[in-house]
Amino acid sequence: MIAVLKQNVTERQIEQLTQWIKNQNVDVHLSKGKDYTILGLIGDTGRIDRELLESLEIVESVKLVSEPFKQVNRKLHPEDTIITVGSAKIGGGHFALIAGPCSVETEEQIIEVARQVKASGADILRGGAFKPRTSPYAFQGLKGEGIRLLLEAKKVTGLPIVTEIMNIRSLDLFEDVDIIQVGARNMQNFDLLQELGKTKKPILLKRGLANTLQELLMSAEYIMSEGNENVILCERGIRTFETMSRNTLDLTAVPILHELSHLPVVVDPSHATGRVGLVPPMAQAAAAAGADGIMVEVHNNPACALCDGAQSLTPAQFDEVARKVRRVREAIL
Ligand code: PEP
Ligand code: MN
Repeated sequence: MIAVLKQNVTERQIEQLTQWIKNQNVDVHLSKGKDYTILGLIGDTGRIDRELLESLEIVESVKLVSEPFKQVNRKLHPEDTIITVGSAKIGGGHFALIAGPCSVETEEQIIEVARQVKASGADILRGGAFKPRTSPYAFQGLKGEGIRLLLEAKKVTGLPIVTEIMNIRSLDLFEDVDIIQVGARNMQNFDLLQELGKTKKPILLKRGLANTLQELLMSAEYIMSEGNENVILCERGIRTFETMSRNTLDLTAVPILHELSHLPVVVDPSHATGRVGLVPPMAQAAAAAGADGIMVEVHNNPACALCDGAQSLTPAQFDEVARKVRRVREAIL
């Protein structure tokens, strides 16, 4: 249930109403936008007398929210959430180009790629330090050392960084990381989501390999319900019967998530397709569908990459993708 308040309400009136609701064992989430103040009632709202609430002087209207996700729900927060990291902004009309290798491999590699993607207009550097690999015998990432090298690349280029966390035990290593990624395989690791919800770090939450959009939103709700409102949703392709591409990029996710939620939505055409030739057209398609950003893998020598070489763009190919994506953005504005 949500209560939309009248425009001229005072802080004191909001406080009194919040207390009145809380006294009935229902939690309140306050959302103050430019035009609206909205109280989201969370919990067993069956106890609340809807007519009585609606009749209060400061209440404009009361609506029932049927969806199980509340804090991520656009009904509760009509304005787009904008996530700011360094000079980059994502959401609410701001578009971010996120680029970098699948894995951080060496200092030379990450710094060279960081410099090159920055020169092509990337806003954020990506790079895996903790790698969730299908085989335990495959390269697992440089872990803490990988984060240290990413921070070096950040120092050299000024680009904010995003990297994946696999276990909450390594959270301390992420102190200077700008955005923490939760990978597809951990989308429903609810303990991890709740712990990340206790931080204030922006979280890039990737859709699971076989998860519905509602499940993705519920995972974002796990993070937000602990107090962290800085969540970015990421469509990265899902498992289908199709074998021509690594996954199937579900671009309908972009308008659907925008309709249901105020959170920014980015698209990862690299993991969605698995093939370098498919990345440029799908990056453009994501921009055309209204994504708030794209995240692509770029490697200075894809043939020798320790992970996901087949889907990695060269810096020159990324330069072309960045230019075309910018043109698509201009065309749809
Ligand atoms: C990644 O972005 O490095 C990654 C492992 O992606 P996903 O979780 O989408 O497979
Ligand atoms: Mn990868």
